[in-house]
Amino acid sequence: MSIEIGFNQVVKKFGDQAVIPDLSINVEKGEFFTLLGPSGCGKTTLLRMVAGFNSIEGGEITFDDRVINTVKPDKRNIGMVFQNYAIFPHLSVKKNIAFGLENRKTPKAEIEKRVNDILKIVQIEQYKDRLPENLSGGQQQRVALARAIVINPDVLLMDEPLSNLDAKLRIDLRNAIRKIQKEIGITTIYVTHDQEEAMAVSDRIAVMKDGYIQHAGTPQNIYHRPSNLFVSTFIGRSNIIDGVMTRSGDHVEVSLFDTYKTSFTNIQKEYLPTAKTAIKMSVRPEEFIFTTDQDGIEGTVQRSSFLGLNTNYFIELKNGEMIEVVQESNIDSLIPEGQTVYLKLNTKKVNIYSEDGAVNFTEGVQNDAEPVPEARKGVNGIAI
Ligand code: ATP
Repeated sequence: MSIEIGFNQVVKKFGDQAVIPDLSINVEKGEFFTLLGPSGCGKTTLLRMVAGFNSIEGGEITFDDRVINTVKPDKRNIGMVFQNYAIFPHLSVKKNIAFGLENRKTPKAEIEKRVNDILKIVQIEQYKDRLPENLSGGQQQRVALARAIVINPDVLLMDEPLSNLDAKLRIDLRNAIRKIQKEIGITTIYVTHDQEEAMAVSDRIAVMKDGYIQHAGTPQNIYHRPSNLFVSTFIGRSNIIDGVMTRSGDHVEVSLFDTYKTSFTNIQKEYLPTAKTAIKMSVRPEEFIFTTDQDGIEGTVQRSSFLGLNTNYFIELKNGEMIEVVQESNIDSLIPEGQTVYLKLNTKKVNIYSEDGAVNFTEGVQNDAEPVPEARKGVNGIAI
């Protein structure tokens, strides 16, 4: 039942503007695949192309071996869930869910069975006779999900389904969506601009910017080994520090702020420097380690925020740069503002990029996206 979705050099134009210039990626059978990116990057446009609501100006979208470019939306066997629920206000929960099956002239007894099964899976059995106006936003979205999957679609498409819900409900429902998706094993494309949500639900995430996939990979790979500086700063928080990289025997030495030197053994062979090379290092706040060694990076605590499990410190370095450091909170000690501190790096976890931010030199980047063409790279080397 579950199918593979192929995007093969897909182009979307609105007038002269190529919103998606050239996109290729495969979504595997049963995969939970998320399109993530800032507003206007083309996520919804791409999803609507899969649904058949947007035309395709170039390339092919395939369901298994079948090209679906010109197949009508109602012939694609797709279930969809939108941000605004889009359930019928005048129909009970049960009738809302049965609607698609009745349209397909499914026999009554089968409708009854399938609706009852889905009511259980989506955990809204007790509301089956209610009208949508008597349900919370989260319950309405469960109805929308039930209605989308009851027809046994080949593909489930979801566009920001949790955006209208409050924070706690969002977490409850995203866990439910993930569980149900795995239970029924349906190939799913999910659109969000919320990176935490994307990481919580996805098998793979495609981080998009300006119509290009910048990095397609597992949440872990995207977080730990972002393909470029855009991805590094879009997913989670990162301190970006200028440095210089030199080769020293079989390892690479990176010098930061002219004073702090540290060595790396995990630079990809093809990027090992032959001469002094300017780089950008990206360090997540949790990858700084406080040290008593005075040969660490020196700074002064300017501000701290206690967040329960962790404490965030904003530290001014000697050159005036501010960095953010996160440490697990101690029960009895908060580093006071004004105190001089020394920091080291968790070198295994930091990433080293080309000076323009376009290439991650560090080993371990697993990017399933096609490289952004040279001609489409912007001033900082990242797709424009
Ligand atoms: P958001 O998170 O804000 O929904 P998005 O990543 O889903 O953003 P899209 O809605 O896909 O972005 O829009 C991508 C680009 O295409 C934007 O520049 C948008 O203005 C443009 N666009 C979308 N639909 C049309 C249209 N029907 N006509 C012209 N331009 C459009």
